[in-house]
Amino acid sequence: MNNQTTPANGTPTVALYARLSDDRKHGASIESQLEDCFALAEEQGWQPVEFVDRDISAFSGRLRPAYEAMMAKARTGEITRVVAWDLDRLYRDPRELEDLIALADPRRLHPLRVYDPAGDLNLDTEGGITAARNRVNTANMESRSKSRRVKRAKARIRKQGISGGGPRPFGWLAQQAVEPSGKPAFKKDGTPKVIWIRNQHDPDEVALIKAAVADLLKGASLRDIAMRWNAAKVPQPQTGRANWTAHIVHAIVASPRLAGLLGHRKQVIDDSGKVRYEAVEVVGEAKDIGPPIIDRATWERLQQVLEQRGATGHMPRRRSLLTGLVTCEKCGSVMVRSGARRHNGDAEARKVWRCMAAGGGHPSIDAQALEEWLIEATLHRADTASLAAMVRQRGKQGQEAAELVSQLEELERQMDAAARSYAAGRLPIRAFEEASAELQRKQKAVQSRLGPLTATAPLEPYAGRRGLLRKRWPTLSLDEQRAIIAAALGRVTVGPVRKVGRPTFDSRRVKIAPAPRNTTKRRKT
Ligand SMILES: [Zn+2]
Repeated sequence: MNNQTTPANGTPTVALYARLSDDRKHGASIESQLEDCFALAEEQGWQPVEFVDRDISAFSGRLRPAYEAMMAKARTGEITRVVAWDLDRLYRDPRELEDLIALADPRRLHPLRVYDPAGDLNLDTEGGITAARNRVNTANMESRSKSRRVKRAKARIRKQGISGGGPRPFGWLAQQAVEPSGKPAFKKDGTPKVIWIRNQHDPDEVALIKAAVADLLKGASLRDIAMRWNAAKVPQPQTGRANWTAHIVHAIVASPRLAGLLGHRKQVIDDSGKVRYEAVEVVGEAKDIGPPIIDRATWERLQQVLEQRGATGHMPRRRSLLTGLVTCEKCGSVMVRSGARRHNGDAEARKVWRCMAAGGGHPSIDAQALEEWLIEATLHRADTASLAAMVRQRGKQGQEAAELVSQLEELERQMDAAARSYAAGRLPIRAFEEASAELQRKQKAVQSRLGPLTATAPLEPYAGRRGLLRKRWPTLSLDEQRAIIAAALGRVTVGPVRKVGRPTFDSRRVKIAPAPRNTTKRRKT
């Protein structure tokens, strides 16, 4: 750990704090507070983590759980930067301000730095501290905040189309910065100051990104990619070492930059204190970062696929070949893999897939036999599937994806127009926020339709090529195998036990989806 909260890819993490104000009339909504904070984090190249207290008054004395969680991390040095829309979001009384000032003391090992999007909070200088203390006693904060918010909205619109600074992203070329005098620039510690060349790609890294995206769509997990890049000793941009993790790979493939877009990649901390990624929110086109590495339709599909797989940071720890694929015929619940009840004569506890629903009649079934049977069914499907039908289907899906992407672009244009009206004073904040919320709902709905368009992709390389999948099967990762089973068989349902007693396997109890929509021309085998 160095002196900042820096994940292995070198991008510092920053806490964004938002809280709903008592004064609903003048206070900004949490979303607009966060939006401003995100804009700042993005400009600085920081990875934002949200801490949000909703509907909690600064003066009611009620607890602020997100604030407490954030301060705990600040005390341990896990968080060294906090962005709040205004200082009045952070403190409730002068005592709390003094806590912040103490944490910001530059003599601490991990001094906390506090920022607001307007850039006038500074708790690490005497002047800043004095100003902050004075401000505690100033009553009319709302009017200042409001004018600052408008200033901020205008600045954002000016900047639209210009991506943030920050460290070199994977995929782009770096070079030493140059002083205005023309001399090479160095950092305070004497090392060269490196900036990234915005419109030039690193061909090796671009090739890795493209291959990773293709593999992810075919069912590889983020962890698979991280392991491959570690094995190939692919250097990370900031450290030059290969310490890839699923999270870092996710940060790369989820970056809208890849598709030539500007956006936020949101992280939030959930109730258990874990960092969670939210879907990327695209705000428009980036104009200065070269041609897209991944076309937008593919990129959008990938985001949906990753979200649906739950691969965005929260893969269940215990995964197995069929996790999430097997459901109970009786109640529709997803079945889980567990140990079977022991019977006399069993040498060891066998594993079963079982429905955990209460009450009688919910099935369990021998795990090993089910898994073997489903693998065989998958291999058979791959051998007999018609690639032509799949390719035809993919063509149709491609058109549909292009259509959905143009809908997304139209929604972004409407978002811009609303922001412009708001900044120009033609649209009241309330109306602006309602309009944004509505547009975001529509965006989510369009995006969720992009995900299913890749349903059969994992199976395509094997369709109709007899024996190929069987040969490759042992070399595929668990996640790839699971994705192929899902593509080949769809949802698997298991019916109740036919013979009372043990959860024995009987293929008549297992139902799989009909062969993937290729019914027009089934290849005879
Ligand atoms: Zn059930």
